Amino acid sequence: MTTLTPDSVRRTEELKKRVLKGAALLDEMRPGWREKINPDSINVWNVRNCPLGQVYGDYYLACIDLGIQDDPTYGFNTECSGVGIDGSPCSCRSDAATLNILWKEIL
Ligand SMILES: [Zn+2]
Repeated sequence: MTTLTPDSVRRTEELKKRVLKGAALLDEMRPGWREKINPDSINVWNVRNCPLGQVYGDYYLACIDLGIQDDPTYGFNTECSGVGIDGSPCSCRSDAATLNILWKEIL
């Protein structure tokens, strides 16, 4: 779950922009995509339960179809650096939890 610090608020804003970008792409490419998603099973770390997995059946097939590779700026997945620049664990785990919430919110 997200802890509210200036950094986490900033991060949530960034992730929200990504989700809106991804949703706009789906609006264009797959009108009606929202109805295919079960909000309670959204999990961006699962190729079938992530938003693209639920709409297309498989995350990787969706990436090919949409021509977006593994681009994290659409909010469909997280980027993992292994370790943060300051040596702390990277934010991918909390990013994933935040993305799950944000996707649920915009359905
Ligand atoms: Zn990571």
